[in-house]
Amino acid sequence: MAIAKSFDSYYPVTGESIGTYPIWTEGQVREAVAHARSASAAWQELGFSGRKKILLRWSKLLINRIDECTSLISLETGKPVSDAKLEAVLAISHLSWAARHARDVMRTSHRSPGAVMANMSATVERSPVGVVGVIGPWNYPIFTPMGSISYALAAGNTIVFKPSEYTPGVGMWLAQTFAEVSGLPDVFQCVTGLGKTGQALCESGVDKLAFTGSTNTAKIVAATCAKTMTPVVLECGGKDPVIVAADADLKRAAENTIWSAMSNAGQTCIGAERVYVVDSVADKFISHLLEVVVTISPGAPGVGNYGPSTMPKQIEVIESHIKAAIKSGGRLIYGSAKSVKAPYVSPVIFTDLPEDSLAMTDETFGPTLAVNRVKNTDEAIRLSNASKYGLGASVWSKRKGKQIASQLHCGMVAINSTISFAAVASVPFGGVKDSGYGRIHGPEGILEFTYPRTVVRARFQLPVSFTNFKRTAGNDKLIIFLTKFLNGRFG
Ligand code: NDP
Repeated sequence: MAIAKSFDSYYPVTGESIGTYPIWTEGQVREAVAHARSASAAWQELGFSGRKKILLRWSKLLINRIDECTSLISLETGKPVSDAKLEAVLAISHLSWAARHARDVMRTSHRSPGAVMANMSATVERSPVGVVGVIGPWNYPIFTPMGSISYALAAGNTIVFKPSEYTPGVGMWLAQTFAEVSGLPDVFQCVTGLGKTGQALCESGVDKLAFTGSTNTAKIVAATCAKTMTPVVLECGGKDPVIVAADADLKRAAENTIWSAMSNAGQTCIGAERVYVVDSVADKFISHLLEVVVTISPGAPGVGNYGPSTMPKQIEVIESHIKAAIKSGGRLIYGSAKSVKAPYVSPVIFTDLPEDSLAMTDETFGPTLAVNRVKNTDEAIRLSNASKYGLGASVWSKRKGKQIASQLHCGMVAINSTISFAAVASVPFGGVKDSGYGRIHGPEGILEFTYPRTVVRARFQLPVSFTNFKRTAGNDKLIIFLTKFLNGRFG
């Protein structure tokens, strides 16, 4: 296949080129989708047990070759190898869960036909949608796309995956290792390239498009897919709040919040960006935050607690948010604008940041944290919900955790823990509002890549039929009588 152009991927620590990858053209993407479509029948014919065998074989390979995989992740993102390992292990456990549970989740369900239709048997079957296009980001290059890929494959779909231009090597490695264990290279293909290649995938006629990335690109993806009525799952950005109540374990809350905000250089969609701490415990909580934050610093893998900003452009966004925070009257309690020294950003913590500051309204995606005092948890809930985003949240309270969680407008809440929901394979992952729609992970994540097919079968024929042209006035009366009677609306 003649490839028109190529692009390089870079080691974010030094900026040196570490690999050259082809830019797949529109025609080549269509060809890949056609191959995926041809491979569909064989993948579906394997059935749940055949697919499970291959997917578990793949998860075994991934764990056996975790060093190879995680050094590649570390090289492409600049994150510590240990963080890459955590990410890979989570991705592998999701893969195993999806492989083991697809059959149960997709089991045909029997529904009550209702009294008027009592002669019918009503069932709902689940079918894979066909070919799923997956577009992924660079911040968690194995965990994030595998949240769609594993669940869609287990459901019986074939995949064409376009990884971020910053992490093409991880995408290629995933497709190659799947081909190794399955001998079915067209079931999961990786197409590399820039934004245009992603656009070509949206326009290629895939049966569903699973996108993870920024809200801005998600809107473009949804608009592009709308032209061909291609359904989408959108996993986008967040501005996740942390609520610290008066009865919280403050030390633990501070340790977890610093990790959530700063690990992976703050490049975590479900990372803490805003904290609302109840006034009566705010000083103590903040002093715990400061105790922890002084112990961490960025650096190359093996040196820092977290690495550089993977995407050089993001440094400008982080810097602009720090400047906006200072300008709008936020009080710096750790770090400053000088904390930005490309490619690294040292931790920055603000307090008293006006709610309308850019650093409070928009996703920063850097190791910064805003900590605002609130009168009580009601105010914390109101401010948490005021965001345009609604991805995840954390609540720290010994007694009121569930009560607070149930009032939050977001897709996932961790109580007395941080981002714990991402590690539980049986629960859905996704957001509301500008954080997107649709779900990956859990039974919902399998069903997302299927469609329901309703089958209603006549078990026996009734003496009166309402669905032919022989229907009489007496039949009409009978059906109205039955409807009134069965709905209890006499008189
Ligand atoms: P982007 O939105 O920049 O890119 C995401 C993907 O879309 C990349 O593969 C990109 O390709 C591709 N793309 C770019 N333009 C188009 C287009 N016109 N049509 C189709 N695809 C296109 O996001 P980032 O990669 O910067 O990722 C960071 C964002 O992802 C953050 O906002 C973060 O919060 C979010 N995220 C959300 C998660 C969730 O589950 N909710 C999880 C992880 C991250 P290319 O790289 O080649 O430009």
